[in-house]
Amino acid sequence: MVIDKKFTPNEPTIEMGCLDWCKNACIAACPTRALKGNGTIDPRKCISFLTYFGQGITPKKIREPMGMYVYGCDRCQNICPRNSPWLAQDLPVNKRVAEKADDFGLSLLLHMDKEYFETKVWPHMFYMSYDDIWRWKMNVARAMGNSRDEKYIADLIRAFDENEDEKVKGMCAWALGHIGGDKAMKALERFKQKSEGLVFDEITDALKNT
Ligand code: SF4
Ligand code: SF4
Repeated sequence: MVIDKKFTPNEPTIEMGCLDWCKNACIAACPTRALKGNGTIDPRKCISFLTYFGQGITPKKIREPMGMYVYGCDRCQNICPRNSPWLAQDLPVNKRVAEKADDFGLSLLLHMDKEYFETKVWPHMFYMSYDDIWRWKMNVARAMGNSRDEKYIADLIRAFDENEDEKVKGMCAWALGHIGGDKAMKALERFKQKSEGLVFDEITDALKNT
């Protein structure tokens, strides 16, 4: 937080200040069970941490609970009753944000190049640089898989063919397996002929689901 005034700080506090009646709404709402209680969190399960900073391909058992989130989550913040007065305000639509919504379609994000990323995405979502573009694409592929929408099959096939990164290829294979169907299965069988290692294993598992 940046402020433009000098002030005298009071005593720091680690008090959580949770409401007695809340009964841990945030813990119940967390899709991946990352909140462990007593104010602790397992970042390896937190969607926000994983989508910005996760290393390696996202573990299989957490892909489905991560749902359609691509960049961050904050469901625990949105559910907290201490935030509800602010969230309930009838605020006007932010026109600047609304005008950019079309730039953030899943297909556009999956195929974005350096120029697209640095002009349309990075100025607003800057936790990852272009060096980490694989993580953006892996997150998008996982969201497409969780949509189970056949309209994404062509995008996932194209992304598998065009990307070198094994984490992106592996997640495209997972997503195709998750969506399923004849077209996805045929693509996975073609990919399998020329794949090895992590990608081969992902394809093998994905074929079991189609
Ligand atoms: S940001 Fe999402 S995944 Fe992370 S602790 Fe909160 S609800 Fe759970
Ligand atoms: S939802 Fe808010 S008030 Fe309730 S336990 Fe979580 S942080 Fe505390």
